[in-house]
Amino acid sequence: MSIVVSKFGGSSMKDTQAMLRSAGIAKDQNSNIVLVSATYGTTDKLIALINASEKSDAQTAEKLLFEIEEKHLGILKELDCEHIVETELNILFDELRTLSKGVQLLKDCSPKAYDNVLSIGERMSSLLFTQAMKRTIDKDKVTLFDIRRVLKTDSQFNKALPQLDKIKLLSKECFDFSKHIYVSQGFIGQDENEATTTLGRGGSDYSAALIAEGVEADTLEIWTDVAGIATTDPRICPKAKQINQITFQEASELATYGAKVLHPTTLAPAMRQGIPVFVGSSYNKDDNGTWIVQESNQAPTVRAITKRDGQALLTVRTPKMLHAVGFMSRIFDVFNDHKISVDSVTTSEISVSITIDQATLDNKNFLFELGQIGQVSVENDLSMISIIGNKMHHTPGLGEKIFNALGEINVRMICLGASEHNFCFVVNGEQSSDAIKRLHKYFIEGVQ
Ligand code: ASP
Ligand code: MG
Repeated sequence: MSIVVSKFGGSSMKDTQAMLRSAGIAKDQNSNIVLVSATYGTTDKLIALINASEKSDAQTAEKLLFEIEEKHLGILKELDCEHIVETELNILFDELRTLSKGVQLLKDCSPKAYDNVLSIGERMSSLLFTQAMKRTIDKDKVTLFDIRRVLKTDSQFNKALPQLDKIKLLSKECFDFSKHIYVSQGFIGQDENEATTTLGRGGSDYSAALIAEGVEADTLEIWTDVAGIATTDPRICPKAKQINQITFQEASELATYGAKVLHPTTLAPAMRQGIPVFVGSSYNKDDNGTWIVQESNQAPTVRAITKRDGQALLTVRTPKMLHAVGFMSRIFDVFNDHKISVDSVTTSEISVSITIDQATLDNKNFLFELGQIGQVSVENDLSMISIIGNKMHHTPGLGEKIFNALGEINVRMICLGASEHNFCFVVNGEQSSDAIKRLHKYFIEGVQ
């Protein structure tokens, strides 16, 4: 028996119609476990609820609670749900109201309470989606499952780390595919004290990959609102093409360097277990989609182009670095102490340049500590452009083609050599879309 794990994102849970369409896909695909996100926009609303509650803004909190309840009650009604479901949904509403009240009284929301509030989004959507599935598939087989029984994590609330061994063990113990088709929640987990945790925004792709790894699935499907991965963002280049097949390495570079379709951490579990991942649109099932696989039958030099905006370039410079050792490690220690990830680095004899997300600059202690090592300069509003493909560092003439295509666009920093799948460089943010258009035209559309 081949095992299929499917994940449907918020846009696939948007309303009754989207839920029924997604249930139809789960049926056609013979899904064994279906993990779902909160209904579209609900996680954002839950965060707004927390913010209002922390300010003791009872009026806004009440308005948000009403909107959240109304939306889910609307779907409940349209799905003609079993009676018990209304009771269960009301229990979740009560929990949410109580949590909001608690936060209003304390004027503070602990990370633990925050995860509890957010978890209600996925708990509501999975409850309702189970009903959509029961209307579509063998009613007696469809089973609502609390993923917290299996998806064990550490206690870093808001961005908990999965405990892989436990997840694998429990996945084997808890699921019986001969009897059940499971509907469960993405995004949420549980620590060893049985407190609810979450994996971070957009984390339900990751949940699905972890469960797919746990049950040794044959396929992992990620259903979203676009027909797979494109050669670049179609909003920038309307001529962007869908990619039929791409390797894990290329897809992880793409996700990390800005493509929004997949959450960057998603692929690691699937890669470890060698599970092919399909990304497709739940709105238009027959619109091909993208397969992410271990080895692809085509390996073009340039497969896709992506960008990450809002980058800053930090340069630490000191003459003391001349012929000395240990500077690099001191600089990276500061990054490590502040849990800031280093994206790209270039060095010269007396300076090191590092790209970071601009938001990191709010951390004044971090900048102060770097300033103790050397003179720090910061350039803002940059974009990192990544050209993703194969054999990047063994393709003669590639650099020339890239820089010719860019014309007069100034390149501020280049990173090549660390990965054979990625050639990236930094440009002024204002010129980033133009850079993408020019590269796409040359490498993908073939206009030379
Ligand atoms: N509902 C969560 C979010 O919006 C998780 C997810 O959808 O992946 O971030
Ligand atoms: Mg999502």
